Amino acid sequence: MTKGSETFEFQAEARQLLDLMVHSIYTNKDIFLRELISNSSDALDRRRFQALSTPDILPAGTELEIRIDADPDARTLTVRDTGIGMTRDEVIGLIGTIAKSGTREFLDVLKASKDDALGPELIGQFGVGFYSCFMAADAVTLVTRHASGGAGVRWASSGEGTYTVEEAEVAEPGTSVTLHLKPVDSEDGLHDYTSEWQIREIVKKYSDFVAYPIRMEIERKEVERDEEGNPKEGAEEKTVRTLETLNSMKAIWLRDKDEVEADEYNEFYKHISHDWNEPLETIRAKIEGTLEYQVLLFIPSKRPFDLFLHEGRHGLQLYVKRVFIMDDCKELLPEYLRFVRGVVDSEDLSLNISREILQQNRQIQRMRKGLVSKVLDTLASMRDRDDDTYRAFWREFGRVLKEGAYQDSDNRDTLLDLLLFESTADPETPVSLREYVDRMKEGQDAIYYMTGESREAVEASPHLEAFREKGCEVLILTDPVDEVWTQSVFEYGGKRFQSAGKGAVELGTEEERKQAEEARKERQEAFASLMDRLKEHLDEYVKEVRLSSRLTESAACLVGDVHDMGPQLEALLKAANQDVPKTKRILELNPNHRILERLQAIYDADQEDPRLNDYAQLLYGQAVLAEGGQPPNPGRFARLVTDIMIEAL
Ligand code: ADP
Repeated sequence: MTKGSETFEFQAEARQLLDLMVHSIYTNKDIFLRELISNSSDALDRRRFQALSTPDILPAGTELEIRIDADPDARTLTVRDTGIGMTRDEVIGLIGTIAKSGTREFLDVLKASKDDALGPELIGQFGVGFYSCFMAADAVTLVTRHASGGAGVRWASSGEGTYTVEEAEVAEPGTSVTLHLKPVDSEDGLHDYTSEWQIREIVKKYSDFVAYPIRMEIERKEVERDEEGNPKEGAEEKTVRTLETLNSMKAIWLRDKDEVEADEYNEFYKHISHDWNEPLETIRAKIEGTLEYQVLLFIPSKRPFDLFLHEGRHGLQLYVKRVFIMDDCKELLPEYLRFVRGVVDSEDLSLNISREILQQNRQIQRMRKGLVSKVLDTLASMRDRDDDTYRAFWREFGRVLKEGAYQDSDNRDTLLDLLLFESTADPETPVSLREYVDRMKEGQDAIYYMTGESREAVEASPHLEAFREKGCEVLILTDPVDEVWTQSVFEYGGKRFQSAGKGAVELGTEEERKQAEEARKERQEAFASLMDRLKEHLDEYVKEVRLSSRLTESAACLVGDVHDMGPQLEALLKAANQDVPKTKRILELNPNHRILERLQAIYDADQEDPRLNDYAQLLYGQAVLAEGGQPPNPGRFARLVTDIMIEAL
């Protein structure tokens, strides 16, 4: 007995995406066919792969293929495959909901983007897959049966809120998707998807390399002809149907380099990445020697929406001797190159390689090494060749590449050379470490940087005052990952990294530094007991009160010792629920600020004057505020400020 039809509602996120497709913001409607073929090709891959361990999945004689049927009279188009198929639960889970993590956040970004042109670009990064049918169809039916058994299922929807599911007779395992096409509207980009040449063209353009035959029945009128090719006299026209394969099926990475057009690479990239944008760079290589493998990699032009999500897609497709083995093979590239997409086809691995043994596999590890240098070399030559392209890359993926600076010590030098930074020198043009070092001032022996929430926050920070006065460039680091790599990378090109907010700062020529140090020492002695007095009151928060060599305008700032954890890293770790020991910092006072003389006068008159405690609190509190933190007792801080305002008014 077959089960009756049940109606379900699309999950809220799915409904929103469908709505975008129905009222399509995407002008190139043709690509729905590419998406369907891509899904079919994935399903065929999965069936073939599972059959390696479970032969019953693929009985002998089964054709692995994709069929396209068009019916101009009924205005329907069907894409059918003999792939793995879906169970009823899978249909409901996969087609009725969007399980991709981060969908909600993605939709919020999409909604917030006022720029209409951004819509298609963003949706492209997300990849809507199956739902793109609703750009071209006002009703879609999907009929499927899983290759491992069970009943067939029919799913149907017009893309408006609900769908129905019922049991169905399905002769062979696999999936077929039938679109009831919207009327042709060339202004809106809706072509006639029942026309033979239209289908041919789309398949050729987007799916030529698909590894399975994409077949279509072609109808031709034929007349019997004589030896010279002229119609025979009195012969009648006959209708002949033949099954034609529309794609060449040639694995693109096996074809001659010169023979493959850029467009073909681009389409292949879109096929494997589910990105609708063109890649920024294509890397093609054949590695021969003790290990043999073919590589076709891509650097995307846009960051995918899930780049920073834990469950985000990551990894390459692994083939062994042209047989697809797995998607998202994480072992082939380190985490910090997770934005790279592509295919690796090995001659040496065994076809039965499983995910479990990948990690220990020595060949995989050697391939990984080779792949990393390929990608880093490509980035280096992109940087040397074309600033604009490299900066475009950097904007999208720089934050990820920085992770490599602490994760990959083998390639650290190469990676450091690939990094770009904002700096105090030129807000428009990011600077590389090489450039920074080349333009360092005489006498400067460290690469100075300052971490913070944003460029504005860093620029306003009192720690940079002396740097500004001396015209010393400081790198501005505002990515959370900057807090991490700066903890483990200590030098570049023989110059140490130093935070402008840590340790002692020594700027200027040797002579200038000597003079400054002497002057500071003198004043340090003059104010020593006052500073002890302040330190005593602030003992809970600071480990030292001293005179500063980095302040020229502000009265006070907080600094750490060279190896102390900075306040941003502390906040970051706390946010990640880690136990962080409280680091006491150093309160630095501006030796040339009027406030110091005034405090000294109060102190000289009466060492126990309670105002000294209030001022100590105020100095400490404003130093915390200046670096974006919160004074320990904000209520008391606010009251003290008000009291002083009243006195002054
Ligand atoms: P994506 O392909 O990006 O995962 P889709 O919306 O296109 O997103 O498809 C969702 C899921 O539905 C696929 O991941 C796959 O598991 C399943 N699916 C889609 N089409 C087919 C098909 N022809 N055969 C088997 N499973 C399919």
